[in-house]
Amino acid sequence: MSVAAATDAGAQSVSKLPGVGPALEALLHKLGLERVQDLWFHLPLRYEDRTSVTPIAALRTGQSAQVVGTVEAVERGFRYRPQLKVAISDDSRQTLQLRFFHFNRAQAEQLAVGARLLCFGEVRHAGQGLEMVHPQYRRLAAGEDVALEDRLSPVYPTTEGLGQKRLAGVVAKALALLPPESALELIPHDLCASHGLASLRDALLTVHRPPPDARLDLLLHGRHPAQQRLAFEELLTQHLSLKRMRAAVQRRKAPRLAAAGVLRERLLASLPFALTGAQGRVDAEVRRDLAQASPMLRLVQGDVGSGKTVVAALAALAAVESGRQVALMAPTELLAEQHLRNFRHWLTPLGVEVEWLAGKQQGRAREAAMRRVAEGAPVTVGTHALMQEGVGFARLGLVIVDEQHRFGVQQRLALHDKGADHGRGEVPHQLVLTATPIPRTLAMSAYADLDVSAIDELPPGRTPVQTVAVSNARRAEVIERIRVACAEGRQAYWVCTLIEESEQLRAQAAEVAHAELSAALADCKVGLIHGRLKSKDKQAVMDAFKAGELAVLVATTVIEVGVDVPNASLMVIENSERLGLAQLHQLRGRVGRGAVASNCVLLYQPPLGQLARERLAVMRETNDGFRIAEKDLELRGPGEVLGTRQTGQLSFRIADLSRDAHLLPAVQQVGERLLAEHPRAAELLIARWIGGAARYARA
Ligand code: ADP
Ligand code: MG
Repeated sequence: MSVAAATDAGAQSVSKLPGVGPALEALLHKLGLERVQDLWFHLPLRYEDRTSVTPIAALRTGQSAQVVGTVEAVERGFRYRPQLKVAISDDSRQTLQLRFFHFNRAQAEQLAVGARLLCFGEVRHAGQGLEMVHPQYRRLAAGEDVALEDRLSPVYPTTEGLGQKRLAGVVAKALALLPPESALELIPHDLCASHGLASLRDALLTVHRPPPDARLDLLLHGRHPAQQRLAFEELLTQHLSLKRMRAAVQRRKAPRLAAAGVLRERLLASLPFALTGAQGRVDAEVRRDLAQASPMLRLVQGDVGSGKTVVAALAALAAVESGRQVALMAPTELLAEQHLRNFRHWLTPLGVEVEWLAGKQQGRAREAAMRRVAEGAPVTVGTHALMQEGVGFARLGLVIVDEQHRFGVQQRLALHDKGADHGRGEVPHQLVLTATPIPRTLAMSAYADLDVSAIDELPPGRTPVQTVAVSNARRAEVIERIRVACAEGRQAYWVCTLIEESEQLRAQAAEVAHAELSAALADCKVGLIHGRLKSKDKQAVMDAFKAGELAVLVATTVIEVGVDVPNASLMVIENSERLGLAQLHQLRGRVGRGAVASNCVLLYQPPLGQLARERLAVMRETNDGFRIAEKDLELRGPGEVLGTRQTGQLSFRIADLSRDAHLLPAVQQVGERLLAEHPRAAELLIARWIGGAARYARA
């Protein structure tokens, strides 16, 4: 391997390429393309297939296609905004509508009746027929033959002012400087050979300029060996970069929390149950981490109801007994309040005070709490606002983050910094709890910076929840079923699910359901809880439900996480077809917590789409959170499963975690070897794939 040669050719500035002047250079910089090698690895997002012309009659919605047609009619509209509608047809005698919102006079004149057009665009459903909105088009001269492309056309990520053709031209010039394979390949030869990695050089040439005989079907879906080779390298690089961040954190110091364990013994003795085997194992892992002088970075995943809270409490006691403070944060106030209650119930008898700090808390109470925290209050529970609002801890030793799979790597790092004790040069330990079971493959990749423990066993005596899916047409029967259950002394949740709407609309929907159920169930007391209630009122409702004073609780998805009322054994979820698997599983986890057999009714509004049908089938078939997560990954993709789509933490150029999950075991093996034996190659891979972004992250 000749690393030096690869960096030579690739390390030149893009401005050295012929035809790249200052203006183009500035545009390329906007895309993060500074060096020639950045262009080599600026990979197409997708391809457009202009190798054939599709008859209009054969178009399908969602497809991107090339068509040739003659303009039959032109209509200018001014509804909402000016638009130009152009109907074209071809020999297949079908019509396709082209719609433009931005057009100038010259364009409008070109698109005249009788003109023959070559168009490329995405086919959409429109009223009676099909349309393309803002297709690319060219007017064909009389008698002109359509020159078909002999290969797929790449579509690159680009920026305003830089068209695909021009960008592809620059990429081609950069590719002309590609060094021989030996100078380009950073992964040592023996590792490439033992994992069957194809030539990187060929892979790059293929994805940028697919040969005419390449398998289109594979290329269009990212499954071509050339794409897979690059996806491998990209996943490998991500893995290396997470491992490197982790190493950086672990070089920092953390307090050793290794007290004798008097408090933990007292808590264990006071519990009405013994830890499960899985809880015991995870607790031991956490304790071992806490006793180290480098910061713990551990994710504890356990299905809903697996008993993560008590494991967190034991960790907290280890810190307290070592004279350090603990911060426990939850994503919602309801959940934070529940932790507060559990922690107070368990810790106050041991003489350990538990502080409360929530975002909504104001004035004197807040100031007093802040002061106690600054003076060293042992345990503080709150929402995530806790770390963000400049709350100063005297000697924070452990941060526990609950149900926060939505945390990105950067946020986790930031937590360390916020909690850092600069006087001692120490950062707190970190324990992350999540009830979203993450498929192993995904956890290995997305959480390569964390150690993962799994509480993979439920406390004894739980009976699996029986789940049925019922059409809304049979709503009355479902309500009757609640009446019978309540007459038997059981309690029920009725969950209203309106997604993507405001909290206010959600609350309204819940109020409507509450009125309906109150009227239909005259003998039962029906309560209502939603996110718009004051936290005092929410608490009062939860308390009443917990005490059995309310038979039915109508709720929005605020109860999704953490709520624990063991006597509730029936759950109805409205509009269940709209929810994802992870959310359905979380909601259903609110029942089945006691010894009585529990039921879950998934009400749906027919007709069901294919995806919704599959989801509801999975819910009926299994209660196993890990299986549900695997299925979720399959159906929705990793961004959704991890909830990281917004943070962009898992945005890849070419890799796709669900499609390419089969690569991950090899990625991990190669990653370990590189870090141990070829750290320089690892650095160069990171510079190649993450380059500028990584430089900024470090700064
Ligand atoms: P989750 O993992 O969903 O956060 P919790 O910590 O809320 O679960 O625990 C769910 C319920 O199970 C609580 O009522 C808790 O007290 C109880 N629990 C926890 N561990 C055990 C155990 N080992 N045996 C019996 N019940 C347990
Ligand atoms: Mg919990």
